[in-house]
Amino acid sequence: MQDLYRQVIMDHYKYPRNKGLISDSKGLLIHLNNPSCGDEITIQLFTYNDVIERVVHEGSGCSICCASASVMSVALEKHNIQEGIDIIKQFYELIKGLPYNTDILFKDAVAFSGVSQFPARIKCATLSWKAAEKGLISLQEASHG
Ligand code: ZN
Repeated sequence: MQDLYRQVIMDHYKYPRNKGLISDSKGLLIHLNNPSCGDEITIQLFTYNDVIERVVHEGSGCSICCASASVMSVALEKHNIQEGIDIIKQFYELIKGLPYNTDILFKDAVAFSGVSQFPARIKCATLSWKAAEKGLISLQEASHG
C-alpha cells in the first residue's frame, strides 16, 4: 500500500474520530462482526429531520477496520439519509477497485483504495460502513412506511 495512504489509515487508527458510544441517548445502535478477522463494531446513529447529525462507533478489530470506522463517521456526518446511502455505495465501489465518485466521498476514504488488492481485508474495511448502511436503510424504511 502506498505510504501516504498508510499514513492516513494509521492516523485514523491512532486518533479515531467520533469514537465511543453515547449512553442514555436515543441513537440507533447497530452491531456487526467479521468472524474471518475477529473484528467487532457497534455504531450509533443520530439523525434529526432526515439529516445524519452524528455517527459514533466502538469496537475492537484490526487497524483497517478501526480506521475505516473513523473515516465512515466523518464521511456521513451532516448528510441526509439518502446521501449517506449513496456515499456508502461509492465506498464499496472504491474498495472493489471500481470507478467511484470522488465528489461525495470524504477524501480520507480514498486511502482505502489499496484494499482492493487484498480481498481478505475487504470485509475489515467495509464492516462499519455495512453497519451504517443497515441503520440508514432501516431509518429510511421507518420514515417512508
Ligand atoms: Zn479486520
